[in-house]
Amino acid sequence: MPVTPEAIAKNLFRIRECVAHAANRAGRNPEEITIVAVTKTHPAEAIRAAYEVGLRHFGENRVQEWEAKRGKLNDCDRATWHMIGHLQSNKVARAAQIFDRVDSVDSISQIRNIERAVKRSGPFPILLEIRMDPAHTKTGLEKEGLPTAVEVALALQKIELRGLMCIPPYFADAERVRMYFRALREIRDNLVLRYERPLPVLSMGMSHDFEVAIEEGATEIRLGTALFGPREPYKAEPTL
Ligand SMILES: *Cc1c(COP(=O)(O)O)cnc(C)c1O
Repeated sequence: MPVTPEAIAKNLFRIRECVAHAANRAGRNPEEITIVAVTKTHPAEAIRAAYEVGLRHFGENRVQEWEAKRGKLNDCDRATWHMIGHLQSNKVARAAQIFDRVDSVDSISQIRNIERAVKRSGPFPILLEIRMDPAHTKTGLEKEGLPTAVEVALALQKIELRGLMCIPPYFADAERVRMYFRALREIRDNLVLRYERPLPVLSMGMSHDFEVAIEEGATEIRLGTALFGPREPYKAEPTL
């Protein structure tokens, strides 16, 4: 069933209410929180529908998938396109051309490859994705490697390190995820103290746990199912 603008508008209205309530509980301004619409598996028409109801940030997981859809969305020129999936090294250069930001940077070599790809343009915004629980999550930079990665990113002229991202383990009970969100915020706060540079973005929280993420300081929440409904699973996960 195609996703209509009406259905997205309705979902968005409810989501914004939840965002406002969660922000209020934490004494935060709801306007600090950006919704990134996660559009993986959905066709360009669904992305356009989301754009038409006012969404401006979009996240895709795969370079090829976005490559196939983007030609149909050239006129959505006020959108920011985020890469949020694991990026293979042979696709970094292309990703830096067709996305406005990479939120899922997970290695030092990737930072350097992005810098190389944007030499003539830039600065290019990135987030570092942190692997919060090696026993239960597959992607992200190990915490031990974080200081070096931050130092490399801060030293490169064309890299604009904006903050951190995480995908915590999945628990149906979102309360069990709270500790990971809190830990990411603490890691960010410590980096800000240590390097005396602002890292304003915390990209954390998905459809089932974004309210907890907001209570713990999320500035960007990545929502797929809550906006577009359930999606077809990918048939295989060759990148993981
Ligand atoms: C798919 C995906 C999301 C959105 O997931 P939902 O549970 O559908 O909201 C968020 N972040 C990343 C990195 C994803 O791959």
